[in-house]
Amino acid sequence: MAGVFDIPLTQDFRGITRRRGLVWRGIAGWAEFSPFEDYSPAGCVPWWQAANEAAAEGYPPPVREWVPVNGIVPAVSPEVAIRLVSQFRGCTTAKVKVAQPGQTLAEEVARVAAVRGALGLGGKIRIDANGAWDVETAAAHIAALNRAAGGLEFAEQPCGTVAELAQLRRRTSVPIAADESVRRSSDPFRVEKAGAADLIVLKVQPLGGVRACLALAERVSLPVVVSSAVETSIGLAAGLALAGALPQLDFACGLGTLQLMSGDVTDDPLVPVDGFLRVRNVSADPALLAHWEAGPAVQQWWRRRIDQVRALANSPGTPRAGL
Ligand SMILES: [Mg+2]
Repeated sequence: MAGVFDIPLTQDFRGITRRRGLVWRGIAGWAEFSPFEDYSPAGCVPWWQAANEAAAEGYPPPVREWVPVNGIVPAVSPEVAIRLVSQFRGCTTAKVKVAQPGQTLAEEVARVAAVRGALGLGGKIRIDANGAWDVETAAAHIAALNRAAGGLEFAEQPCGTVAELAQLRRRTSVPIAADESVRRSSDPFRVEKAGAADLIVLKVQPLGGVRACLALAERVSLPVVVSSAVETSIGLAAGLALAGALPQLDFACGLGTLQLMSGDVTDDPLVPVDGFLRVRNVSADPALLAHWEAGPAVQQWWRRRIDQVRALANSPGTPRAGL
């Protein structure tokens, strides 16, 4: 069983309004292949390897049953931010998106302050700039947002390059997390060598699978935080398998992202309970798969994409997942 899904997001997320991809059932379980549509075929190869791991091998055994997750607040108004936090289902950590083109520091401060008010003093707030700031802007914004938050847990990918992150890290007491610098880099270890981050973000699909992420986590000495790439519950289950199998898990994981999706392909979705997700596999529901099935043009686009990516993944020069 397989299907191309096309699900609208509830909020514009970094310019994306719909999430599309392929899910299918292999001998080991359900797999999701959902790279963003602007990625090159070569950039999709790790996503393909991750999906094939899920379908053909399944996941390594977990060492914990429950995983703490964070909620997410896109670059929305303070009013919407408060409403989103009220839908957090017990999550006490919020990831707030910042550095949205066209938005001012005042708008970011208002959003972070609103999230703090809604979360209460016991909650944690992390921000994610997706590499959009230069060092000066990052230093100024992080200082102001750290004040508005009453302390930030960390700032994720404030600048685009490893060199900038390293420079910024010497200028702020707020811990720096590297995301794009790990998952879109030819050398995921560069961040650590350069002293550019205090922790790294691991995402299963972009990094080539659960086992590739576990191997990476073993080789870096930095703490890791597991996040999703805004996936259906089938993709989230892969992130959950990673979070469940990591020997050390110090941070709430960015796997509480279903609230960004207006629907799901399973009738047993990975929705947090009291801020936690139980590590488990997920199966697609045929009726929901049919409901969210993409139109013929989108289906055709994805079939073509899969042919391209599969050919690349099977070519002799392509390295094994992740490492
Ligand atoms: Mg990020």
